[in-house]
Amino acid sequence: MDKKLSKKIHALAPRFRKKIEDLFSAMSESVSMLYEAATHDEKTGLYNNKFFESILDMEMEKAGRGQGNPCLFIIDIDFFKKVNDTYGHMKGDEFLKRLADVLKKQLRKSDVAARFGGEEFFIILPNTNLAKSKNLTLRLKKAIKSDPILKKHRITVSGGLTCYRKGDTKKKIKERADKALYKAKNSGRDRFVAIV
Ligand code: GH3
Ligand code: MG
Ligand code: MG
Repeated sequence: MDKKLSKKIHALAPRFRKKIEDLFSAMSESVSMLYEAATHDEKTGLYNNKFFESILDMEMEKAGRGQGNPCLFIIDIDFFKKVNDTYGHMKGDEFLKRLADVLKKQLRKSDVAARFGGEEFFIILPNTNLAKSKNLTLRLKKAIKSDPILKKHRITVSGGLTCYRKGDTKKKIKERADKALYKAKNSGRDRFVAIV
């Protein structure tokens, strides 16, 4: 809060002061809730598509200026339609949340994991390289494979990884990540493919 305003509030009679402080606190809570709703996906608690796009824009712009080297990782649940058919849509939703929680646990604060839509997730690894991000994908794979709930229901995922190339655009890096995912799907699923 602004110093002058804070001083003025402190000069008020205690009962007015309390009212104003409560009002500020309620406003601040509302702003936090609005921010959360505008930037997060309700079902999984991960960032939403809109937030993801704005961060990717920013990271690509930075990389274009020679600051940072982002990698992009896309994950898609295998045969999720069948998973829903087998266990029901509600259980399907629980698996989406579970996978999101497993991903979150493995990521650094600076990584941005978003639900892109349906059963697809994007992760932006802001300043890294292919070797480091490959290590992360291995860690993710291990965590997904050893999660008791996902394991019990035989939930597997495929993933596509790629990193920034000089002259890249957002469209190009996304298309490359998608191509890597497509390769993972077409070569048997339950695997991660990187396009260097
Ligand atoms: P693939 O291995 O090729 O990715 O197969 P798939 O079945 O996962 O892919 P497809 O695109 O055919 O189907 C995606 C399914 O994801 C269909 C849809 O019912 C399900 N799905 C999308 N969003 C949600 C959601 O929010 N909750 C649940 N439970 N299911 C969802
Ligand atoms: Mg799928
Ligand atoms: Mg899909």
